[in-house]
Amino acid sequence: DLAHDVEEDPNAVKRPPVITIMGHVDHGKTSLLDAIRSAKVTEGEAGGITQHIGAYTVEQHGEPITFIDTPGHAAFGAMRQRGTDVTDIIIIVVAADDGVKPQTEEVIKIAKDSGAPVIVALNKMDKETANPDLVKGQMAEHGMTSVDWGGDVEFIPLSAKTGMGLDDLLENILITAEVLDLKANPKVPAKSAVVEASLEKGRGPVATVIVQNGTLKVGDNIVCGSSYGRVKALIDENGKQIKSIGPSHTAQVAGLDTVPPSGEVLMAVSSDKEAKEYAHKRYEYDRHKELSKSTKSTLEDM
Ligand code: GDP
Repeated sequence: DLAHDVEEDPNAVKRPPVITIMGHVDHGKTSLLDAIRSAKVTEGEAGGITQHIGAYTVEQHGEPITFIDTPGHAAFGAMRQRGTDVTDIIIIVVAADDGVKPQTEEVIKIAKDSGAPVIVALNKMDKETANPDLVKGQMAEHGMTSVDWGGDVEFIPLSAKTGMGLDDLLENILITAEVLDLKANPKVPAKSAVVEASLEKGRGPVATVIVQNGTLKVGDNIVCGSSYGRVKALIDENGKQIKSIGPSHTAQVAGLDTVPPSGEVLMAVSSDKEAKEYAHKRYEYDRHKELSKSTKSTLEDM
């Protein structure tokens, strides 16, 4: 268990929080992710090429915060399924003019199951029809009661359109993170989670990862499920080549031999030989599982 190992590690130091944004369709997940990013792009990087690589890090008063930049809960589900649960805090977006909808109920359940703390973003507060009290009432019925109603969930009124309330949201994330006392050891070989991956023209397989523990460096031998290789390049969300990334930070990794699935663990190992062996074992294991699955379904078909 990584969390336990890190807790016991005397070299573990504070790490930034990793945030996932969930909510009903059209309630503003994408708008909120874009608004936070464009409001917080550091001076000097503004005007540079911003790429959507699946995750990004912004700073609030010099404190980094990493967002998983894929709206919805598909990436979250993929990571949980594979035990690479990188999300520390979940933001549930509810449009203040629309209230709790079926997918809101779904993500409330997912959030409760995960045990991660929740912050509710009351979005679209710029609209005349916004009714935050209605939303608070509906959310309370689902066991998410606002602090100002005597509960323990922060509700932050905001607008992804005007930018109102974004600072409050980021402040609240930092306060929540402080309580969580998040730690990792940057001095060990990296263990990271794949947020998304694809085959890119001229670059081959490219995987966006978030580092959970350790530091991932250019030149590291890596294995990722049945895929392996060596880190040829690390590219950040601004399209810049970087040499290494520490805990809770994100980059695109080039150098794997095949495209890994979302949620897979990507880790650094000590040698090319070890990487090859791990990947091969995993390939055999997956093939065996596939075979036994198809044998079973054939039997069931009979
Ligand atoms: P998603 O499906 O949850 O990712 O929602 P989107 O971010 O795509 O937003 C859905 C629609 O709501 C778009 O037309 C947005 O422009 C609009 N929208 C998002 N946030 C706000 C907001 O704060 N105020 C207003 N007025 N419209 C918003």
